[in-house]
Amino acid sequence: MAIKAGSQFGPRLRETLSRITEEAAHLLGVEGAGLRLVDGDELVRVAAYGPEGAVMARERLRLDESLSGQVATTGRPVIVDDPDAEPGQDPVYRAMAKLHGFRSWLGVPLRDQERVIGVLVMQSRTEQRFGPTDVRLLEAFAGQATVAIENAQLYEREHERRRQLEAVREVTAWLASETDLATLLERISRLATELLGVGSIAVYLWDEASATLVPRAWHGFGDWLGDVRLKLGEGVAGTVAQRRAGVVVDDYRTAPYAQPIVLERSTASAVIGEPLLYEGELRGVITASAAIGERTFTEQDRQVLALFAVQAVIAIEHARLHEARDRALAEAEAARGRAAFLAEASAALATSLDYDATLAQVARLAVSTMADVCTVFVLTEDGEIRRGATAHRDPTQASLTEALARYWSGSVSPGSSVATAIRTRQPVLNAVISDHHREKIAQDAEHLKIMRTLGYRSSIVVPLHARGETTGALAMFVSGAGREYGPADLSLAEELAGRAALAVDNARLYREARRAIQVRDEFLSVAAHELKTPVTTLLGFAQLLLSQLKQKGALDDRIVGRALQAVERGASRMSRLVSQILDISRLEGGRLVLDRQVTDLAELVQGIADAMQTTTTRHTLVVRTSGRVSALVDPLRLEQVVTNLLDNAIKFSPQGGEITVELAQPSPDLVRLVVRDHGIGIPPERRQHIFERFYQAHDGDHASGMGLGLYISRQIVELHGGSITPECPLDGGSQFSVELPTGRPDGATESGTERAP
Ligand code: ADP
Repeated sequence: MAIKAGSQFGPRLRETLSRITEEAAHLLGVEGAGLRLVDGDELVRVAAYGPEGAVMARERLRLDESLSGQVATTGRPVIVDDPDAEPGQDPVYRAMAKLHGFRSWLGVPLRDQERVIGVLVMQSRTEQRFGPTDVRLLEAFAGQATVAIENAQLYEREHERRRQLEAVREVTAWLASETDLATLLERISRLATELLGVGSIAVYLWDEASATLVPRAWHGFGDWLGDVRLKLGEGVAGTVAQRRAGVVVDDYRTAPYAQPIVLERSTASAVIGEPLLYEGELRGVITASAAIGERTFTEQDRQVLALFAVQAVIAIEHARLHEARDRALAEAEAARGRAAFLAEASAALATSLDYDATLAQVARLAVSTMADVCTVFVLTEDGEIRRGATAHRDPTQASLTEALARYWSGSVSPGSSVATAIRTRQPVLNAVISDHHREKIAQDAEHLKIMRTLGYRSSIVVPLHARGETTGALAMFVSGAGREYGPADLSLAEELAGRAALAVDNARLYREARRAIQVRDEFLSVAAHELKTPVTTLLGFAQLLLSQLKQKGALDDRIVGRALQAVERGASRMSRLVSQILDISRLEGGRLVLDRQVTDLAELVQGIADAMQTTTTRHTLVVRTSGRVSALVDPLRLEQVVTNLLDNAIKFSPQGGEITVELAQPSPDLVRLVVRDHGIGIPPERRQHIFERFYQAHDGDHASGMGLGLYISRQIVELHGGSITPECPLDGGSQFSVELPTGRPDGATESGTERAP
């Protein structure tokens, strides 16, 4: 082992050396003794015995000076019998010897194997005092002194190591109490600088996702270190991480690990690094660097750092667990909050079946927890997106939102988030709505101004789904800097939307059910009224005939004839009403089936007109047709349509007159049938409703019907793929145009069936 001299000696070693020197003097029976050890190119006094200042007066000598220097450099004992005759002697020594009367001098080297590590010197007031026996005796002492020095140094080193370990233990003991990771890393970095007495420390943590070391705390480097990322094998830290073992680098500036940015920005010249391993897994690396000329690192420094790293990683793991637990607690708390809110929302949404109240409730619920403004949009049956209800956290914004809504002009623009969410059936999260975006969608300066004033910062639009259909969307907005929606808000919004969609759908179904009940009640009263009229007539004639039979015992032929006519009219009217009721029920249930056949429409129309002419004398029915017009249609159903149109034409022309039916084929695949009367016509404002069920455009007596004829006719025509249009001729009356595809223009007689949708 190497023995070091000088200042590194502790008090215990100095004491040992003094004792050895003194014992040697006693043994040889001399008055003065001293011990010097080599320190570089100097000899340093470590022990002296004799009168104060008489021996080894100078603390340091150069190796080429004096008798001691001669012993040290030659490695051989030197005896001086007459100091006056000795030319190599140090003048200070000569003066002191004279003063204290020393006459003889003996010096032997101290050896650590071959190397001279010091000189043991004896001085005597007797002339020619030293002989070979003294030399041997003293050399034996020198050997002992060497062993003592070694032992003492071992002890001191061990002592120093323990002191350092104790220091590590002390500084790391309270690390474990720090649960904030950032603060902890900062402390680790500071403690490491103190412990190793270096200017620069860097603590890196291993980032699993990017497979790099990320600097998390450091001392002695600028902010630039924060941007450094090291892969396995890169730089000292990357090398340490890859080897999972400590590295000591003496000359970093020429080492293969050197990172250009570190070379450029720091003066690091010696570096040590230790991995931060927890249960064998890499958690990070800690490195210490010394600037050029500052110091180098020993194996012992590395051991200290390694020990420190073990403690540090435990504290890091502890803080991480703590943070994870805090996070989990916070998440659980948030989840509880969300669950409570959703339960509340479900309860609140169940309170009303009123459609508009439900929409308003949904908007209010969103505003109560997660939005400054919420608007519920509803997808109508004809595919339009309409605004259902809006709620505001700040009621003073209501007028602004209303002003904004004007720009939707009843519907939303196809590119909007609302339209996108409904079309794609996916939620849309606009984490940050930029002013650039506002400028892009603004329709004019005023629009932009309103949007800027409202200052919506972030938005979420979630579609509403019910029974597999998209029924609308929920749009939420927050304003104000720093308030941005994130994935957690999105999932909460989706949960709320799920419940809202159900509630809205229930309210809508309830509204439809109520409407259906209303329609059914209306229908029952109309049907009862309509059936009652012919029944009354039948009953009247039956009673008349019965009383006649009773009174006269026979029936009057005239009366019987009139009664039978009335029975026939009444029964056929009832039969028509019952057929219409059946058709309605078939249409509702999708059970109206077409039985298509190639049919000569001219013949069909002429037959109907002839039959109907027999029912009226005031009207003249004229059929105009250009020969045979055939189409693939259901003849019975088409007969129903034509009969209804003619029946209406007769019914609503109380003054009589000409009714024309024109049949034409404007193109090979289209036939057109136009029924024209000169009756009372249809008031323009009512025209749009005449195809609705139970709708009657005229009050009073003309209305012998249930408002079902046109409804059924239109369904039949549309089932054929055609259309029916009412027209208002300028010279009065009504005109209905029916257009039908010819179906199979080749005139094949194949028949087919279709159902009502
Ligand atoms: P209804 O069985 O009551 O006639 P429709 O469905 O056939 O029912 O007709 C609906 C309503 O349309 C009628 O009640 C009537 O007011 C109006 N309407 C139908 N055809 C004519 C017509 N040719 N002239 C005037 N009004 C008509």
